[in-house]
Amino acid sequence: MKNVAATPMPQRGLTRAAAEPNPRTITAGASAMRLGDVVPPPQEIARLDVEALAEFFARHGRDLPWRRPEASAWAVLVSEVMLQQTPVARVTPVYTDWMRRWPTPAALAAAPPGDAVRAWGRLGYPRRALRLHEAARAIVQRYGGAVPRDLHALLALPGIGDYTARAVAAFAFGERQPVVDTNVRRVISRAVRGIDEHLPASAADRAELESLLPVDPTLAVITCAALMEVGALRCTATAPDCVHCPLARTCAWRAAGFPPGPERRRPAQRWHGTDRQVRGEIMAVLRAAAGPVGPTRLRAGTASYTKSPDQWERCLASLVSDGLAVRDRRGRFALP
Ligand code: SF4
Repeated sequence: MKNVAATPMPQRGLTRAAAEPNPRTITAGASAMRLGDVVPPPQEIARLDVEALAEFFARHGRDLPWRRPEASAWAVLVSEVMLQQTPVARVTPVYTDWMRRWPTPAALAAAPPGDAVRAWGRLGYPRRALRLHEAARAIVQRYGGAVPRDLHALLALPGIGDYTARAVAAFAFGERQPVVDTNVRRVISRAVRGIDEHLPASAADRAELESLLPVDPTLAVITCAALMEVGALRCTATAPDCVHCPLARTCAWRAAGFPPGPERRRPAQRWHGTDRQVRGEIMAVLRAAAGPVGPTRLRAGTASYTKSPDQWERCLASLVSDGLAVRDRRGRFALP
């Protein structure tokens, strides 16, 4: 997302109802209820306070490199791919080096895919680097090196899913698109539906946000960006900070007294000894090597992480199968 912080603020009173809500003390016990003041009347629920969101974003939106006015559509696309499943703090230095090295799709397309995998470093899920490289080549071949603006053209690029395509259309080109990631879904679920639900974003969520967004494309983009920021900075999964949330006044979940939602199925966070760890360590050896690495050296550099020789073989084979490593005629391994 870019430029939205510099966009003129919406006119006051765009969405806020004229009448103030009727005071009603919240009595349920929840740390997020320290507000202890008022809850919204029903007519203020099930919509978004666009003005409050825009003010919040103007004041508290983080200054991130891909949001700056000089950020290109390519910069937005790169950042959105990197930010999938990886936090901002880890993405920022890799993104900065990446854009310095490959400021355009053409620059990346001209590089070997192995360079992209090496530059990806430890961001995780390195197939994203390969897919980004494929997308750069497709942009050069199909669009002369310019990131397309059309949603369907974006969706047709390798590795670009619904979320990323809409994020690029909105944040790079100012299109009115419902951009729903996990954070935004959580905010909508709580603030609009009154349910504390933690599920991946779906087409139904996009349709719901589409119905809630302002008609004006600029305001719609700001609203999407602000919702992301609220989800990241205020309405977090485990510790919602309602006291400082721009949606506190109209939040349906807060109005209902923070009822518990469906039980969360927490994904296992185990890392040590997993195939993901072993694959990551094999990739680390290949990234650090100046040339192909023989299996003995490769195994020596990574065997301490494996639970069995079978696991090591399985992980190496999966990296080759994914195109993240190649085997030469002498049986040595390298980045593609
Ligand atoms: S949207 Fe805001 S007010 Fe509602 S639960 Fe989240 S942090 Fe609290």
